[in-house]
Amino acid sequence: MGVKVGVLALQGDVAEHITAFREALADRPGSSVIPVRKVADLVDLDALAIPGGESTTISRLMGKNGLYDPIAEFEGGIFATCAGMVLIADRVDDPRVRPLARIPMHVDRNAFGRQVDSREAMLEVAGLAEPFRAIFIRAPVATDVGPGVEVLARIPEGIVAVRSGRHMAFAFHPELGGDLRLHRIFLDGLGV
Ligand code: GLN
Repeated sequence: MGVKVGVLALQGDVAEHITAFREALADRPGSSVIPVRKVADLVDLDALAIPGGESTTISRLMGKNGLYDPIAEFEGGIFATCAGMVLIADRVDDPRVRPLARIPMHVDRNAFGRQVDSREAMLEVAGLAEPFRAIFIRAPVATDVGPGVEVLARIPEGIVAVRSGRHMAFAFHPELGGDLRLHRIFLDGLGV
């Protein structure tokens, strides 16, 4: 059976997420990947990606488009990267971000400083046999996680990959770099 994935398309690297999920789903006939801009777009989705970008901007636009409650109640899996990891948390250090509270964790925005501190790292991620080339761009980190949240990877600054039920969140950008192993683990975990 095909998998239907939506990518929250208010701001951020939406096109890269769509491309990565289309590629990860290429061997699953009947699958589709669509941009999500309004509540009606969420209907029938198995999963939703919340992209990297500016969490303050995405937060404001989610409010404007009436998407907070529908995403807070969304029943599929959520794949959140970077700004998405800020939004999916339940506690954020920046009051301009209203978090969706889908994963119990505290997230610090811009934990590496201002824009300058972006980097790549070969990261050990739980569940992957080989390290993942992680691209960090003004990345957040989680500083603590609640019960039931599995920490998949950390760096000296903090936690950078987690799983909570069908949801996964990354401080880096698995949608960039062409390595789709984390997308596949996420898709396998949907149970579709
Ligand atoms: N620092 C950004 C934020 O908190 C996230 C950066 C990114 O998504 N690449 O919104």
